[in-house]
Amino acid sequence: MPGDRDHPGCLIGESLMSRVYNFSAGPAMLPEAVLQQAQAELPDWHGAGASMMEMSHRGKEFVSVHAEAERDIRDLLGVPDNYSVLFLQGGATAQFAAIPMNLLRGKRKADYILTGSWGEKAVHEARKYCDVHVAASSEDLQFTAIPARDRWTLSTDAAYVHYTPNETIGGVEYHWVPDTGDTPLVGDFSSTILSRPLDVSRFGLIYAGAQKNIGPAGVTVVIVRNDLMGNAWSTTPGVFDYAQQAKADSMLNTPPTYAVYMAGLVFQWVKKQGGLAAMAAINMRKAQKLYAAIDASSFYSNPVERSCRSLMNVPFVLANPALDNEFLSGATAAGLTTLKGHRSVGGMRASIYNAMPEAGVDALIHYMADFEKRNA
Ligand SMILES: *Cc1c(COP(=O)(O)O)cnc(C)c1O
Repeated sequence: MPGDRDHPGCLIGESLMSRVYNFSAGPAMLPEAVLQQAQAELPDWHGAGASMMEMSHRGKEFVSVHAEAERDIRDLLGVPDNYSVLFLQGGATAQFAAIPMNLLRGKRKADYILTGSWGEKAVHEARKYCDVHVAASSEDLQFTAIPARDRWTLSTDAAYVHYTPNETIGGVEYHWVPDTGDTPLVGDFSSTILSRPLDVSRFGLIYAGAQKNIGPAGVTVVIVRNDLMGNAWSTTPGVFDYAQQAKADSMLNTPPTYAVYMAGLVFQWVKKQGGLAAMAAINMRKAQKLYAAIDASSFYSNPVERSCRSLMNVPFVLANPALDNEFLSGATAAGLTTLKGHRSVGGMRASIYNAMPEAGVDALIHYMADFEKRNA
């Protein structure tokens, strides 16, 4: 029954709505408490008589929301003082271009480590701006593993080393931070940021589109070490010039005010859950039980090497792909939606970001076992 405690359906505000467990890779589920708070504050934010999305980005209300969002993500990640936190637009995809424009600093070459499709896209874009050296790749293993650090052929003259800590499509995640010596390390954290603690001081730059683990689409978080800014190409668009944006408090133009507000609510929610150590414990438990269920069956399988399986995106295939459509339609009917794998790999993918309740993973495991029993 909708509204029942044991059912994903729930009571939102005045209206009875049925909330599903949404396994979408992105835009992804948001915490229900955040949606309810946003709903309550929507027409009249804190007695201001207007919605946050109707307010000037120069006004004291939005400026305070923006400042608090920055403070909270700094707290959560323990961002050191010599790093700037920027809230930009254009998604992670814009950063694929902005990173070489800003970080080459007179050099011509950058090293890239390839472990999946997003890394390939980053390389494709960077090639427009610099000499890309692919220093390691797991393409020969169909991107089901991560090349060991001692097999990377890093350049001595690279401006930075770029990698993808979590490949959202293949479900391949680094459970270690690579050591790149004095060459700044750059990570695309779009689908893993805030899932567990991170030592930001190991990085030159971290970036993440919001729509997986931070908030709605429209804002991109860039955390950059201050000494790496200020040498962008003169042709860099102002909105993508980190130094200009840092100086303007990320408001060189009108920022995505509502997306920043929503991200701020999510940061507060993560803090309330106990911060990143608490998130990590929950995420570990969710992922472990799902992988255990997949591994225990010959009906389902996951191709990724065990040491680099993603805590956030769990792809799996059915031994008999002729059952895929039936699996998906049955899942949707059970309130478990968007489990279809990426079009490039097929099969299924369960994205289980911070906002996916453990009960959602339990419901999926239960459905999988039941479907197997009916079809094995
Ligand atoms: C989703 C995703 C992107 C693309 O993000 P956009 O906001 O669509 O540009 C890039 N990298 C990774 C790892 C992703 O998961």
